[in-house]
Amino acid sequence: MLRYQAIESLKGRYLGRFPRGGDILEALTNLCRREDVRLGRVEAIGAVERARIGYYDQQAQEYQFMEIDRPLEITSLVGNVSLRDGEPFVHAHITLADRDGRVYGGHLAPGTIAFACEFMVEALDGRSLERSFDDETGLFLWDLPTR
Ligand code: ZN
Repeated sequence: MLRYQAIESLKGRYLGRFPRGGDILEALTNLCRREDVRLGRVEAIGAVERARIGYYDQQAQEYQFMEIDRPLEITSLVGNVSLRDGEPFVHAHITLADRDGRVYGGHLAPGTIAFACEFMVEALDGRSLERSFDDETGLFLWDLPTR
């Protein structure tokens, strides 16, 4: 389920909120695919019921995921939208705070569930960036021309 509204005067910008119980990364991705946002930026604040965040092990070249199964504040969620396999793809990082103000952060992964989440997605003009596999890092990075 996805609930959001666009600001009429600001074409290409979507402000809204995700309902309680929704997966934040999935909801952001669904919005970008539905609205055909192929290049853009995302941000959000709010709170989660639980979180799943990734840390990329540069030696092993694989993600390690941490699950935090308790309510946390979203102090910051920032990310971008580009294309992977021709489809809008959201890459975001999140910082979460507990009741003592301690923070946890990392790569936003599926399994981060909204309690209340206010977001903004801004579509940017221009040709989109396509992700492709990068041998050096083992990540799908933006395929950019060398200058
Ligand atoms: Zn990341």
